[in-house]
Amino acid sequence: MRINLCLNKMENNNGVYLLCDQPTTCPKCGARTDFKDIGNQYQEHICLSGECGFEFITESEKEK
Ligand SMILES: [Zn+2]
Repeated sequence: MRINLCLNKMENNNGVYLLCDQPTTCPKCGARTDFKDIGNQYQEHICLSGECGFEFITESEKEK
């Protein structure tokens, strides 16, 4: 399941977040994230806030 993550839109969902132009921050608390590429357009992010630690997957939208 994908939702748009446009940082003004704070969805709380464990699905895949579709990246917008903004730098990715935690959708729960807004902290910065550490991430690793997990293939093609996907990145696995983890919130750097010790109290949050939310993990989520993002998918980059490729331009034609
Ligand atoms: Zn967080």
